[in-house]
Amino acid sequence: MKTISRKKTRIAIVAMALGFGLAVLALLLQNLGVEFAIVIWCPALLSLMVCAWLMSRANRCPYCGTRLRGLHWSKPDAGVCEKCKETVYYDDSVQ
Ligand SMILES: [Zn+2]
Repeated sequence: MKTISRKKTRIAIVAMALGFGLAVLALLLQNLGVEFAIVIWCPALLSLMVCAWLMSRANRCPYCGTRLRGLHWSKPDAGVCEKCKETVYYDDSVQ
């Protein structure tokens, strides 16, 4: 059975949360007039780019290559592929 990586999915989830968190923090500081807010934008954008890269590379159907919807931290399967109708499982849920 072909599977997708749980580890890469979790890294993408953490990167997304970190990126959005830092972006909100940078916006708040920018609105308060803090000058070093621009320094926080760099890791925020970097985290979001890592997330987007992982989602486009790792979160794909292993049978046909179609992008899958959603990122799942602990759910055993990643859902059914819209194109080939195969159920896609994570590598840690298959023994
Ligand atoms: Zn597919």
